[in-house]
Amino acid sequence: MPTPAQQVFRFAPSPNGYLHLGHARCALLNHDLAQASGGRFLLRIEDIDPLRSKPEFAAAIMDDLAWLGLRWQTPVRIQSRNMADYAAALTRLDAQGLLYPCFCSRGDSARSAAGRRDPDGSPLYPGTCRRLAPGERAARIAAGEPHARRINMAKAAAHAQGGLVWSEASADSTARTVAADPALWGDAVLARKDVPASYHLAVVVDDALQGVTDVVRGADLAPATHLHRLLQALLGLPAPRYRHHALILDGDGAKLAKSRLSKPLRQLRAEGLAPDDIRRLAGL
Ligand code: GLU
Repeated sequence: MPTPAQQVFRFAPSPNGYLHLGHARCALLNHDLAQASGGRFLLRIEDIDPLRSKPEFAAAIMDDLAWLGLRWQTPVRIQSRNMADYAAALTRLDAQGLLYPCFCSRGDSARSAAGRRDPDGSPLYPGTCRRLAPGERAARIAAGEPHARRINMAKAAAHAQGGLVWSEASADSTARTVAADPALWGDAVLARKDVPASYHLAVVVDDALQGVTDVVRGADLAPATHLHRLLQALLGLPAPRYRHHALILDGDGAKLAKSRLSKPLRQLRAEGLAPDDIRRLAGL
């Protein structure tokens, strides 16, 4: 058990491909910060997506991290083996009347979204199924129609009684307070049609269950924190501190795409680079 003051960091890759330099920056940063604070470093495999996740990638990720010289605490948490924890969180939100079933296809939502988008660039859900009569909902569920489960954002935000903030550290470790605006995400999906959880739900539940005190991850995930803070408040979970680090950009300023910098670490390894070279290329 950690002592109360011990900081807990984690690297939480999705095993849907090989690690590249951007992942290396995130993993090394978490590992270094854990070491510097005398804290713990955890690895979590975020494999709730059965179509994109592959055990081979999880094995390759661990192999690359070990080659980089990282050591993590065991057992490693594997999300797909812990679906009951996400189901329990959904039950808790459902008991607060904050979820509704959504039968729409992606195409349905996109057509009626009127051009508005969430921070990931997906069409903002127009709320079609939020307006279904209870009888129709029950009948469609009873008929076995596949459905996702969405959060009723207006109701949830009112429930959390506003005033949500998080502590965001910058590269020099100075912290500022950021006001959370979960409505950016609209009625987000918390359980998918094909998987009874979503990234947003699983990450919040896991960070709490694993006692993570400091979430250090790429700047592309900063907008997700608006929703994560809401879910933490609704589920009665503690709020970690956050630090969203700069992404590694290509020469032309684009997010890491097809360039030398986007090569998988294993390819850079095969070309003869050493772990210290990776640290340097990752800007550490
Ligand atoms: N699994 C996510 C990813 O690989 C990271 C989740 C997180 O750090 O919160 O992008």
